[in-house]
Amino acid sequence: MDRRAFLQTASLAATTPLLGGVVPRAHAVPPTPAPTEVPASAIRDLSRALGGRIITRGSPGCGTFNTLSNDRFNSVQPLAIAQCTSVEDIVACVTWARKHRVPIAPRAGGHNFAGYSTSPGLVVAVTDMKMMQLDQSTGVLDAQAGIQNQDLRALLPQGGEGRWVFSGGTCPTVGAAGLTLGGGFGPNSRWAGLTCDQLQESTIVTAEGEVVVASASSHPELFWAIRGSAGRNFGIHASFKYQLAARPDDKSTVYGLEFWNREKCAAAAKVILRGMRTAPATSSILMIATTWTDGVGCVMWGQHFGGDPAAGELKKELLALDPDLSFERKAMWWDAQSWLMGSPTEPRAYWDRSRFVRDPVPDEVVDDLFRRLERYPGTTEERFGQLAFYGWTGGVINQVPRTATAYCHRDSSSLVRISGVWKLGEDRALGAAPIPEEIRGWVDGAWKVLVPHATNESYQNFPDPLLEEWGPAYYGENLPRLRQVKSRYDPTNLFAFEQAIPPAAT
Ligand SMILES: Cc1cc2nc3c(=O)[nH]c(=O)nc-3n(C[C@H](O)[C@H](O)[C@H](O)COP(=O)(O)OP(=O)(O)OC[C@H]3O[C@@H](n4cnc5c(N)ncnc54)[C@H](O)[C@@H]3O)c2cc1C
Repeated sequence: MDRRAFLQTASLAATTPLLGGVVPRAHAVPPTPAPTEVPASAIRDLSRALGGRIITRGSPGCGTFNTLSNDRFNSVQPLAIAQCTSVEDIVACVTWARKHRVPIAPRAGGHNFAGYSTSPGLVVAVTDMKMMQLDQSTGVLDAQAGIQNQDLRALLPQGGEGRWVFSGGTCPTVGAAGLTLGGGFGPNSRWAGLTCDQLQESTIVTAEGEVVVASASSHPELFWAIRGSAGRNFGIHASFKYQLAARPDDKSTVYGLEFWNREKCAAAAKVILRGMRTAPATSSILMIATTWTDGVGCVMWGQHFGGDPAAGELKKELLALDPDLSFERKAMWWDAQSWLMGSPTEPRAYWDRSRFVRDPVPDEVVDDLFRRLERYPGTTEERFGQLAFYGWTGGVINQVPRTATAYCHRDSSSLVRISGVWKLGEDRALGAAPIPEEIRGWVDGAWKVLVPHATNESYQNFPDPLLEEWGPAYYGENLPRLRQVKSRYDPTNLFAFEQAIPPAAT
Protein backbone atom coordinates (compact mmCIF):
# COMPACT_ATOMS: atom_id res chain seq x y z
CA MET A 1 0.00 0.00 0.00
CA ASP A 2 1.45 3.42 -0.81
CA ARG A 3 1.24 6.43 1.45
CA ARG A 4 -1.47 8.16 -0.55
CA ALA A 5 -3.72 5.10 -0.63
CA PHE A 6 -3.20 4.60 3.07
CA LEU A 7 -4.18 8.12 3.94
CA GLN A 8 -7.24 7.94 1.72
CA THR A 9 -8.34 4.67 3.24
CA ALA A 10 -7.61 5.89 6.70
CA SER A 11 -9.24 9.29 6.39
CA LEU A 12 -10.80 10.25 9.65
CA ALA A 13 -14.23 10.42 8.10
CA ALA A 14 -14.09 6.81 6.88
CA THR A 15 -12.87 4.67 9.71
CA THR A 16 -12.95 1.20 8.21
CA PRO A 17 -10.27 -1.14 9.48
CA LEU A 18 -8.12 -1.61 6.43
CA LEU A 19 -9.17 -5.18 5.75
CA GLY A 20 -12.60 -3.80 4.99
CA GLY A 21 -15.92 -5.47 4.41
CA VAL A 22 -17.65 -6.92 1.39
CA VAL A 23 -18.84 -5.25 -1.75
CA PRO A 24 -20.74 -7.93 -3.67
CA ARG A 25 -19.22 -8.52 -7.10
CA ALA A 26 -18.85 -11.35 -9.54
CA HIS A 27 -15.38 -12.85 -9.24
CA ALA A 28 -13.45 -14.88 -11.76
CA VAL A 29 -13.81 -18.58 -11.13
CA PRO A 30 -13.00 -21.46 -13.39
CA PRO A 31 -15.95 -23.00 -15.25
CA THR A 32 -17.35 -26.06 -13.52
CA PRO A 33 -19.72 -28.74 -14.68
CA ALA A 34 -23.31 -28.84 -13.45
CA PRO A 35 -23.74 -30.46 -10.02
CA THR A 36 -23.09 -34.18 -10.13
CA GLU A 37 -22.84 -35.05 -6.43
CA VAL A 38 -26.61 -35.40 -6.04
CA PRO A 39 -29.20 -36.06 -8.73
CA ALA A 40 -30.68 -32.95 -10.35
CA SER A 41 -34.08 -34.14 -9.09
CA ALA A 42 -32.83 -33.76 -5.51
CA ILE A 43 -31.89 -30.13 -6.15
CA ARG A 44 -35.35 -29.57 -7.65
CA ASP A 45 -36.93 -31.14 -4.53
CA LEU A 46 -35.03 -28.72 -2.33
CA SER A 47 -35.99 -25.80 -4.51
CA ARG A 48 -39.66 -26.75 -4.25
CA ALA A 49 -39.41 -27.06 -0.47
CA LEU A 50 -38.04 -23.55 -0.05
CA GLY A 51 -39.87 -20.25 0.19
CA GLY A 52 -36.60 -18.57 -0.80
CA ARG A 53 -34.62 -19.07 -4.00
CA ILE A 54 -31.84 -21.52 -4.70
CA ILE A 55 -28.71 -20.69 -6.70
CA THR A 56 -26.92 -23.70 -8.13
CA ARG A 57 -23.24 -24.01 -9.01
CA GLY A 58 -22.45 -22.37 -12.32
CA SER A 59 -25.83 -20.65 -12.67
CA PRO A 60 -25.87 -16.99 -13.77
CA GLY A 61 -25.11 -14.64 -10.86
CA CYS A 62 -23.72 -17.47 -8.75
CA GLY A 63 -20.43 -15.61 -8.21
CA THR A 64 -22.22 -12.54 -6.88
CA PHE A 65 -24.12 -14.60 -4.31
CA ASN A 66 -20.96 -16.46 -3.37
CA THR A 67 -18.81 -13.49 -2.35
CA LEU A 68 -16.87 -13.77 0.88
CA SER A 69 -14.72 -11.21 2.66
CA ASN A 70 -11.63 -13.42 2.44
CA ASP A 71 -10.99 -13.85 -1.27
CA ARG A 72 -8.96 -17.00 -0.54
CA PHE A 73 -12.26 -18.88 -0.32
CA ASN A 74 -14.22 -17.39 -3.20
CA SER A 75 -13.21 -20.21 -5.52
CA VAL A 76 -14.79 -22.82 -3.28
CA GLN A 77 -17.95 -23.41 -5.26
CA PRO A 78 -20.98 -24.64 -3.33
CA LEU A 79 -23.20 -27.22 -4.95
CA ALA A 80 -26.03 -24.81 -4.14
CA ILE A 81 -26.76 -21.72 -2.09
CA ALA A 82 -30.20 -21.68 -0.45
CA GLN A 83 -31.34 -18.12 0.23
CA CYS A 84 -33.62 -18.88 3.18
CA THR A 85 -36.50 -16.63 4.09
CA SER A 86 -37.86 -18.43 7.16
CA VAL A 87 -37.09 -20.95 9.86
CA GLU A 88 -39.04 -23.49 7.79
CA ASP A 89 -36.60 -22.96 4.92
CA ILE A 90 -33.71 -23.69 7.27
CA VAL A 91 -35.43 -26.88 8.49
CA ALA A 92 -35.89 -27.96 4.85
CA CYS A 93 -32.18 -27.40 4.15
CA VAL A 94 -30.99 -29.32 7.21
CA THR A 95 -33.34 -32.23 6.51
CA TRP A 96 -32.28 -32.32 2.85
CA ALA A 97 -28.54 -32.17 3.62
CA ARG A 98 -28.85 -35.02 6.12
CA LYS A 99 -30.85 -37.14 3.72
CA HIS A 100 -28.41 -36.66 0.82
CA ARG A 101 -25.26 -36.62 3.02
CA VAL A 102 -24.25 -33.25 1.66
CA PRO A 103 -21.94 -31.01 3.76
CA ILE A 104 -23.80 -27.98 5.04
CA ALA A 105 -22.51 -24.48 5.94
CA PRO A 106 -24.62 -21.62 7.32
CA ARG A 107 -23.76 -18.14 6.11
CA ALA A 108 -24.78 -14.70 7.36
CA GLY A 109 -22.41 -11.77 6.58
CA GLY A 110 -19.72 -13.96 4.92
CA HIS A 111 -16.87 -12.39 6.95
CA ASN A 112 -15.36 -15.54 8.41
CA PHE A 113 -11.56 -15.28 8.16
CA ALA A 114 -11.08 -18.98 7.41
CA GLY A 115 -13.84 -19.68 4.89
CA TYR A 116 -15.99 -21.60 7.37
CA SER A 117 -19.22 -20.20 5.90
CA THR A 118 -18.63 -21.86 2.57
CA SER A 119 -18.57 -25.47 1.45
CA PRO A 120 -18.58 -27.51 -1.74
CA GLY A 121 -21.96 -28.75 -0.45
CA LEU A 122 -25.00 -26.68 0.54
CA VAL A 123 -24.60 -23.11 1.82
CA VAL A 124 -27.59 -22.09 3.92
CA ALA A 125 -27.67 -18.32 3.57
CA VAL A 126 -29.76 -16.38 6.07
CA THR A 127 -28.79 -13.09 4.40
CA ASP A 128 -32.35 -12.36 3.24
CA MET A 129 -33.75 -12.79 6.77
CA LYS A 130 -33.53 -9.21 7.96
CA MET A 131 -36.68 -8.47 9.93
CA MET A 132 -36.10 -6.77 13.24
CA GLN A 133 -37.99 -4.94 15.89
CA LEU A 134 -36.82 -2.82 18.79
CA ASP A 135 -38.97 -2.24 21.85
CA GLN A 136 -38.07 1.36 22.64
CA SER A 137 -39.33 1.11 26.20
CA THR A 138 -37.23 -1.92 27.23
CA GLY A 139 -34.34 -2.00 24.73
CA VAL A 140 -35.18 -5.57 23.69
CA LEU A 141 -34.25 -6.18 20.06
CA ASP A 142 -35.72 -9.10 18.09
CA ALA A 143 -33.74 -9.70 14.92
CA GLN A 144 -33.66 -12.35 12.24
CA ALA A 145 -30.27 -13.94 11.64
CA GLY A 146 -29.41 -12.07 8.44
CA ILE A 147 -28.97 -8.61 9.91
CA GLN A 148 -25.61 -6.89 9.68
CA ASN A 149 -24.01 -4.09 11.69
CA GLN A 150 -25.22 -1.59 9.08
CA ASP A 151 -28.88 -2.71 9.34
CA LEU A 152 -28.76 -2.13 13.07
CA ARG A 153 -27.19 1.22 12.58
CA ALA A 154 -30.13 2.18 10.38
CA LEU A 155 -32.66 0.87 12.90
CA LEU A 156 -31.24 2.45 16.02
CA PRO A 157 -32.16 6.13 16.25
CA GLN A 158 -29.24 8.34 15.37
CA GLY A 159 -30.73 11.52 16.87
CA GLY A 160 -30.40 12.74 20.44
CA GLU A 161 -33.42 10.66 21.51
CA GLY A 162 -31.93 7.22 20.78
CA ARG A 163 -31.39 5.29 24.00
CA TRP A 164 -30.24 1.79 23.08
CA VAL A 165 -26.78 0.62 22.09
CA PHE A 166 -26.04 -2.65 20.25
CA SER A 167 -22.53 -3.66 21.25
CA GLY A 168 -21.31 -4.62 17.78
CA GLY A 169 -18.21 -4.04 15.68
CA THR A 170 -17.39 -1.26 13.24
CA CYS A 171 -17.50 -3.09 9.89
CA PRO A 172 -20.94 -2.37 8.36
CA THR A 173 -21.25 -5.70 6.52
CA VAL A 174 -20.24 -8.10 9.31
CA GLY A 175 -23.22 -10.32 10.13
CA ALA A 176 -24.69 -10.12 13.62
CA ALA A 177 -24.96 -13.93 13.58
CA GLY A 178 -21.25 -14.67 13.23
CA LEU A 179 -20.34 -11.71 15.42
CA THR A 180 -22.60 -12.81 18.27
CA LEU A 181 -21.79 -16.51 18.14
CA GLY A 182 -18.03 -15.94 18.43
CA GLY A 183 -18.21 -13.23 21.12
CA GLY A 184 -18.25 -9.90 19.29
CA PHE A 185 -16.45 -6.77 20.38
CA GLY A 186 -16.27 -3.17 19.28
CA PRO A 187 -15.63 0.32 20.62
CA ASN A 188 -18.46 0.01 23.19
CA SER A 189 -17.83 -3.49 24.48
CA ARG A 190 -15.62 -2.38 27.39
CA TRP A 191 -18.64 -0.68 29.01
CA ALA A 192 -21.60 -2.48 27.34
CA GLY A 193 -20.18 -6.03 27.20
CA LEU A 194 -19.67 -8.36 24.28
CA THR A 195 -22.35 -8.83 21.63
CA CYS A 196 -22.89 -12.35 23.04
CA ASP A 197 -23.33 -10.87 26.52
CA GLN A 198 -26.35 -8.94 25.20
CA LEU A 199 -27.93 -12.12 23.83
CA GLN A 200 -31.06 -13.28 25.68
CA GLU A 201 -32.48 -15.93 23.38
CA SER A 202 -32.02 -17.55 19.98
CA THR A 203 -34.16 -19.77 17.76
CA ILE A 204 -32.06 -22.59 16.33
CA VAL A 205 -32.59 -25.46 13.90
CA THR A 206 -30.60 -28.41 15.26
CA ALA A 207 -28.91 -31.17 13.26
CA GLU A 208 -32.09 -33.27 13.64
CA GLY A 209 -34.12 -30.48 12.04
CA GLU A 210 -35.79 -29.66 15.36
CA VAL A 211 -36.58 -26.00 16.08
CA VAL A 212 -35.49 -25.06 19.62
CA VAL A 213 -35.43 -21.82 21.54
CA ALA A 214 -32.27 -21.45 23.64
CA SER A 215 -32.35 -19.08 26.61
CA ALA A 216 -31.53 -19.09 30.32
CA SER A 217 -34.71 -21.13 30.95
CA SER A 218 -34.98 -23.20 27.76
CA HIS A 219 -32.14 -25.48 26.61
CA PRO A 220 -29.80 -23.62 29.03
CA GLU A 221 -26.73 -25.72 28.13
CA LEU A 222 -27.18 -24.81 24.48
CA PHE A 223 -27.68 -21.17 25.45
CA TRP A 224 -24.42 -21.30 27.43
CA ALA A 225 -22.62 -22.81 24.43
CA ILE A 226 -23.80 -20.45 21.71
CA ARG A 227 -22.43 -17.42 23.56
CA GLY A 228 -18.88 -17.67 22.27
CA SER A 229 -18.46 -21.06 20.59
CA ALA A 230 -18.40 -19.49 17.08
CA GLY A 231 -20.98 -20.40 14.44
CA ARG A 232 -21.71 -23.64 12.58
CA ASN A 233 -21.30 -25.86 15.61
CA PHE A 234 -24.69 -26.70 17.10
CA GLY A 235 -27.30 -25.73 14.52
CA ILE A 236 -28.45 -22.93 12.26
CA HIS A 237 -29.77 -19.83 14.00
CA ALA A 238 -32.91 -18.25 12.58
CA SER A 239 -33.21 -15.32 14.99
CA PHE A 240 -31.74 -13.62 18.04
CA LYS A 241 -33.17 -11.61 20.93
CA TYR A 242 -30.86 -9.07 22.58
CA GLN A 243 -31.11 -6.82 25.61
CA LEU A 244 -29.41 -3.65 24.41
CA ALA A 245 -27.50 -1.37 26.78
CA ALA A 246 -28.79 2.07 27.71
CA ARG A 247 -26.71 4.90 26.23
CA PRO A 248 -24.45 5.94 29.11
CA ASP A 249 -24.03 9.62 28.25
CA ASP A 250 -25.36 12.33 25.93
CA LYS A 251 -21.97 12.95 24.41
CA SER A 252 -18.80 11.07 23.63
CA THR A 253 -15.31 12.20 22.68
CA VAL A 254 -13.92 10.46 19.60
CA TYR A 255 -10.41 10.92 18.26
CA GLY A 256 -8.30 9.73 15.37
CA LEU A 257 -4.52 9.79 15.15
CA GLU A 258 -2.03 8.88 12.44
CA PHE A 259 1.70 8.31 12.71
CA TRP A 260 3.76 8.05 9.57
CA ASN A 261 6.87 6.21 10.60
CA ARG A 262 7.78 2.94 12.23
CA GLU A 263 9.35 4.30 15.41
CA LYS A 264 6.36 6.46 16.27
CA CYS A 265 3.93 3.64 15.51
CA ALA A 266 5.87 1.31 17.80
CA ALA A 267 5.85 3.98 20.53
CA ALA A 268 2.06 4.36 20.13
CA ALA A 269 1.54 0.60 20.32
CA LYS A 270 3.50 0.48 23.58
CA VAL A 271 1.31 3.25 25.02
CA ILE A 272 -1.84 1.34 24.01
CA LEU A 273 -0.66 -2.02 25.36
CA ARG A 274 0.33 -0.43 28.66
CA GLY A 275 -2.62 1.96 28.86
CA MET A 276 -5.32 -0.63 28.24
CA ARG A 277 -4.19 -2.60 31.30
CA THR A 278 -5.50 0.15 33.60
CA ALA A 279 -7.84 2.26 31.42
CA PRO A 280 -11.42 2.68 32.70
CA ALA A 281 -14.21 0.89 30.84
CA THR A 282 -15.22 4.25 29.35
CA SER A 283 -12.09 4.37 27.18
CA SER A 284 -11.39 2.22 24.08
CA ILE A 285 -9.13 2.30 21.05
CA LEU A 286 -8.24 0.35 17.90
CA MET A 287 -4.87 0.83 16.19
CA ILE A 288 -3.94 -0.63 12.80
CA ALA A 289 -0.37 -0.38 11.50
CA THR A 290 0.25 -1.17 7.84
CA THR A 291 3.24 -1.50 5.54
CA TRP A 292 3.56 1.20 2.94
CA THR A 293 5.70 0.92 -0.16
CA ASP A 294 8.11 3.30 1.63
CA GLY A 295 7.81 2.30 5.28
CA VAL A 296 5.18 1.82 7.97
CA GLY A 297 2.24 3.95 9.06
CA CYS A 298 -0.57 3.55 11.55
CA VAL A 299 -4.00 4.92 12.23
CA MET A 300 -6.11 4.70 15.38
CA TRP A 301 -9.69 5.37 16.38
CA GLY A 302 -10.43 6.09 20.03
CA GLN A 303 -13.41 6.95 22.20
CA HIS A 304 -13.86 8.09 25.77
CA PHE A 305 -16.78 9.61 27.67
CA GLY A 306 -18.08 10.38 31.15
CA GLY A 307 -16.65 12.41 34.01
CA ASP A 308 -13.64 10.22 34.94
CA PRO A 309 -10.50 12.15 33.90
CA ALA A 310 -8.62 8.83 33.66
CA ALA A 311 -10.70 7.99 30.57
CA GLY A 312 -8.87 10.66 28.55
CA GLU A 313 -5.36 9.69 29.75
CA LEU A 314 -4.60 7.33 26.88
CA LYS A 315 -5.38 10.02 24.32
CA LYS A 316 -3.16 12.50 26.16
CA GLU A 317 -0.25 10.07 26.14
CA LEU A 318 -0.70 9.38 22.43
CA LEU A 319 -0.91 13.08 21.61
CA ALA A 320 2.37 13.58 23.48
CA LEU A 321 4.00 11.37 20.80
CA ASP A 322 3.33 14.13 18.26
CA PRO A 323 1.07 12.43 15.70
CA ASP A 324 1.32 13.44 12.05
CA LEU A 325 -2.45 13.86 11.88
CA SER A 326 -4.89 14.21 14.71
CA PHE A 327 -8.61 14.77 15.07
CA GLU A 328 -10.71 15.11 18.19
CA ARG A 329 -14.35 15.92 18.68
CA LYS A 330 -16.74 15.88 21.61
CA ALA A 331 -19.92 14.96 19.78
CA MET A 332 -23.50 13.97 20.45
CA TRP A 333 -23.51 10.25 21.21
CA TRP A 334 -24.89 9.01 17.85
CA ASP A 335 -22.71 11.36 15.80
CA ALA A 336 -19.72 9.91 17.60
CA GLN A 337 -20.90 6.36 16.88
CA SER A 338 -21.37 7.16 13.17
CA TRP A 339 -17.81 8.45 13.08
CA LEU A 340 -16.55 5.18 14.60
CA MET A 341 -18.39 3.05 12.02
CA GLY A 342 -16.38 2.11 8.90
CA SER A 343 -17.35 1.50 5.29
CA PRO A 344 -17.12 -1.66 3.16
CA THR A 345 -14.23 -2.37 0.78
CA GLU A 346 -13.35 -5.01 -1.80
CA PRO A 347 -12.63 -8.61 -0.72
CA ARG A 348 -8.92 -9.44 -0.35
CA ALA A 349 -6.98 -12.60 0.39
CA TYR A 350 -5.60 -12.67 3.92
CA TRP A 351 -4.27 -14.85 6.70
CA ASP A 352 -4.47 -13.67 10.30
CA ARG A 353 -3.22 -14.89 13.64
CA SER A 354 -4.34 -13.35 16.93
CA ARG A 355 -3.49 -13.58 20.61
CA PHE A 356 -5.05 -11.95 23.65
CA VAL A 357 -2.54 -10.22 25.92
CA ARG A 358 -2.77 -9.58 29.64
CA ASP A 359 0.76 -9.15 31.03
CA PRO A 360 3.10 -6.35 29.93
CA VAL A 361 4.59 -6.91 26.48
CA PRO A 362 8.28 -5.89 26.69
CA ASP A 363 9.19 -2.82 24.63
CA GLU A 364 11.86 -4.72 22.70
CA VAL A 365 9.22 -7.24 21.59
CA VAL A 366 7.02 -4.44 20.24
CA ASP A 367 10.07 -2.93 18.47
CA ASP A 368 10.84 -6.32 16.95
CA LEU A 369 7.26 -6.70 15.68
CA PHE A 370 7.40 -3.29 13.99
CA ARG A 371 10.83 -3.93 12.44
CA ARG A 372 9.37 -7.13 11.01
CA LEU A 373 6.33 -5.25 9.76
CA GLU A 374 8.61 -2.96 7.79
CA ARG A 375 10.16 -6.03 6.15
CA TYR A 376 6.84 -7.43 4.86
CA PRO A 377 7.73 -9.22 1.62
CA GLY A 378 6.81 -7.35 -1.58
CA THR A 379 4.55 -4.56 -0.30
CA THR A 380 2.35 -3.00 -2.99
CA GLU A 381 -0.98 -1.18 -2.82
CA GLU A 382 -2.76 -4.53 -2.78
CA ARG A 383 -0.31 -6.62 -0.80
CA PHE A 384 0.68 -5.53 2.68
CA GLY A 385 1.23 -6.62 6.24
CA GLN A 386 -0.65 -5.37 9.28
CA LEU A 387 -0.38 -5.34 13.04
CA ALA A 388 -3.59 -4.47 14.85
CA PHE A 389 -4.01 -3.66 18.54
CA TYR A 390 -7.58 -3.94 19.83
CA GLY A 391 -8.18 -2.00 23.04
CA TRP A 392 -11.75 -3.29 22.90
CA THR A 393 -11.39 -6.14 25.41
CA GLY A 394 -11.33 -5.91 29.21
CA GLY A 395 -13.65 -3.56 31.12
CA VAL A 396 -16.99 -5.15 32.02
CA ILE A 397 -16.20 -8.12 29.74
CA ASN A 398 -13.78 -9.22 32.46
CA GLN A 399 -16.41 -8.97 35.20
CA VAL A 400 -18.15 -12.05 33.79
CA PRO A 401 -16.57 -15.33 34.98
CA ARG A 402 -14.60 -17.24 32.30
CA THR A 403 -16.93 -20.23 32.53
CA ALA A 404 -20.25 -18.31 32.65
CA THR A 405 -20.52 -18.50 28.85
CA ALA A 406 -18.51 -20.35 26.21
CA TYR A 407 -16.47 -17.16 25.61
CA CYS A 408 -13.54 -17.55 28.02
CA HIS A 409 -11.24 -14.60 27.19
CA ARG A 410 -12.34 -12.65 30.25
CA ASP A 411 -9.00 -11.58 31.71
CA SER A 412 -7.19 -9.89 28.85
CA SER A 413 -6.44 -6.21 28.29
CA SER A 414 -5.96 -6.19 24.48
CA LEU A 415 -5.95 -8.40 21.42
CA VAL A 416 -3.04 -8.33 18.97
CA ARG A 417 -3.68 -9.43 15.37
CA ILE A 418 -0.98 -10.12 12.76
CA SER A 419 -2.17 -10.15 9.12
CA GLY A 420 -0.70 -10.87 5.73
CA VAL A 421 -2.83 -9.45 2.90
CA TRP A 422 -2.37 -10.15 -0.81
CA LYS A 423 -4.22 -9.93 -4.09
CA LEU A 424 -5.28 -13.00 -6.04
CA GLY A 425 -5.15 -13.05 -9.82
CA GLU A 426 -8.20 -13.58 -12.00
CA ASP A 427 -6.90 -16.97 -13.12
CA ARG A 428 -7.77 -19.24 -10.21
CA ALA A 429 -7.93 -22.91 -9.43
CA LEU A 430 -10.98 -24.35 -7.71
CA GLY A 431 -10.90 -24.44 -3.93
CA ALA A 432 -9.15 -22.42 -1.23
CA ALA A 433 -6.21 -20.38 -2.56
CA PRO A 434 -2.91 -21.23 -0.84
CA ILE A 435 -1.04 -18.72 1.31
CA PRO A 436 2.13 -17.58 -0.53
CA GLU A 437 5.20 -19.11 1.14
CA GLU A 438 6.90 -15.80 1.89
CA ILE A 439 3.75 -14.34 3.49
CA ARG A 440 3.31 -17.49 5.52
CA GLY A 441 6.89 -17.15 6.73
CA TRP A 442 6.39 -13.48 7.57
CA VAL A 443 3.16 -13.95 9.59
CA ASP A 444 4.62 -16.96 11.35
CA GLY A 445 7.84 -15.12 12.23
CA ALA A 446 5.96 -12.23 13.85
CA TRP A 447 3.64 -14.68 15.60
CA LYS A 448 6.57 -16.53 17.20
CA VAL A 449 7.86 -13.20 18.56
CA LEU A 450 4.47 -12.37 20.11
CA VAL A 451 3.42 -15.74 21.51
CA PRO A 452 5.75 -15.98 24.55
CA HIS A 453 4.44 -12.62 25.79
CA ALA A 454 0.73 -13.24 25.25
CA THR A 455 -1.88 -15.51 26.82
CA ASN A 456 -2.38 -18.91 25.18
CA GLU A 457 -5.71 -17.71 23.80
CA SER A 458 -6.79 -16.63 20.31
CA TYR A 459 -10.06 -15.03 19.18
CA GLN A 460 -12.46 -17.60 17.69
CA ASN A 461 -14.05 -14.84 15.60
CA PHE A 462 -10.68 -14.37 13.89
CA PRO A 463 -10.23 -18.10 13.18
CA ASP A 464 -6.76 -19.18 12.10
CA PRO A 465 -6.92 -22.33 9.96
CA LEU A 466 -3.27 -23.15 10.73
CA LEU A 467 -3.52 -22.74 14.51
CA GLU A 468 -2.34 -25.78 16.43
CA GLU A 469 -4.22 -26.55 19.64
CA TRP A 470 -7.06 -24.35 18.41
CA GLY A 471 -9.59 -25.92 20.82
CA PRO A 472 -7.90 -24.74 24.06
CA ALA A 473 -6.82 -21.48 22.36
CA TYR A 474 -10.40 -20.53 21.43
CA TYR A 475 -12.29 -22.10 24.31
CA GLY A 476 -9.87 -22.67 27.22
CA GLU A 477 -11.32 -24.73 30.05
CA ASN A 478 -14.78 -24.56 28.42
CA LEU A 479 -13.85 -27.00 25.66
CA PRO A 480 -14.89 -30.26 27.44
CA ARG A 481 -18.33 -28.78 28.29
CA LEU A 482 -18.73 -27.59 24.69
CA ARG A 483 -17.99 -31.11 23.48
CA GLN A 484 -20.77 -32.43 25.74
CA VAL A 485 -23.22 -29.93 24.27
CA LYS A 486 -22.09 -30.93 20.77
CA SER A 487 -22.81 -34.58 21.61
CA ARG A 488 -26.33 -33.68 22.60
CA TYR A 489 -27.27 -31.35 19.73
CA ASP A 490 -25.16 -32.65 16.83
CA PRO A 491 -24.00 -36.16 17.80
CA THR A 492 -23.21 -37.21 14.21
CA ASN A 493 -21.29 -34.02 13.46
CA LEU A 494 -23.54 -32.90 10.60
CA PHE A 495 -22.08 -29.41 11.01
CA ALA A 496 -18.52 -30.60 10.48
CA PHE A 497 -15.69 -28.32 9.38
CA GLU A 498 -11.95 -28.11 10.03
CA GLN A 499 -12.27 -26.45 13.44
CA ALA A 500 -15.69 -27.78 14.46
CA ILE A 501 -16.02 -28.63 18.15
CA PRO A 502 -15.88 -32.44 18.20
CA PRO A 503 -18.56 -34.46 20.03
CA ALA A 504 -17.38 -35.73 23.44
CA ALA A 505 -15.53 -39.04 23.35
CA THR A 506 -17.88 -41.82 24.45
C1 LIG B 1 -13.61 -6.68 7.79
C2 LIG B 1 -13.90 -7.37 9.07
C3 LIG B 1 -14.15 -6.63 10.21
C4 LIG B 1 -14.42 -7.26 11.42
N1 LIG B 1 -14.64 -6.51 12.53
C5 LIG B 1 -14.91 -7.12 13.70
C6 LIG B 1 -15.17 -6.37 14.88
O1 LIG B 1 -15.16 -5.14 14.86
N2 LIG B 1 -15.43 -7.05 16.03
C7 LIG B 1 -15.47 -8.41 16.09
O2 LIG B 1 -15.71 -8.97 17.16
N3 LIG B 1 -15.25 -9.15 14.98
C8 LIG B 1 -14.97 -8.54 13.81
N4 LIG B 1 -14.74 -9.29 12.70
C9 LIG B 1 -14.82 -10.75 12.80
C10 LIG B 1 -16.28 -11.18 12.68
O3 LIG B 1 -16.94 -11.00 13.91
C11 LIG B 1 -16.35 -12.66 12.34
O4 LIG B 1 -15.70 -12.88 11.12
C12 LIG B 1 -17.80 -13.13 12.27
O5 LIG B 1 -17.86 -14.51 12.46
C13 LIG B 1 -18.41 -12.75 10.96
O6 LIG B 1 -19.77 -13.05 10.95
P1 LIG B 1 -20.54 -13.11 9.56
O7 LIG B 1 -21.93 -13.48 9.86
O8 LIG B 1 -20.27 -11.87 8.80
O9 LIG B 1 -19.73 -14.23 8.82
P2 LIG B 1 -20.07 -15.70 8.18
O10 LIG B 1 -18.84 -15.96 7.43
O11 LIG B 1 -21.35 -15.63 7.44
O12 LIG B 1 -20.25 -16.59 9.44
C14 LIG B 1 -19.25 -16.75 10.42
C15 LIG B 1 -19.38 -18.16 11.04
O13 LIG B 1 -20.66 -18.28 11.64
C16 LIG B 1 -21.42 -19.30 10.98
N5 LIG B 1 -22.79 -18.80 10.83
C17 LIG B 1 -23.21 -17.75 10.08
N6 LIG B 1 -24.54 -17.62 10.19
C18 LIG B 1 -24.96 -18.59 11.03
C19 LIG B 1 -26.23 -18.98 11.50
N7 LIG B 1 -27.34 -18.34 11.14
N8 LIG B 1 -26.30 -20.04 12.33
C20 LIG B 1 -25.16 -20.74 12.70
N9 LIG B 1 -23.95 -20.42 12.27
C21 LIG B 1 -23.84 -19.35 11.44
C22 LIG B 1 -20.74 -19.54 9.65
O14 LIG B 1 -20.93 -20.87 9.17
C23 LIG B 1 -19.29 -19.27 10.00
O15 LIG B 1 -18.72 -20.42 10.61
C24 LIG B 1 -14.45 -8.68 11.48
C25 LIG B 1 -14.22 -9.43 10.32
C26 LIG B 1 -13.93 -8.79 9.13
C27 LIG B 1 -13.65 -9.62 7.90
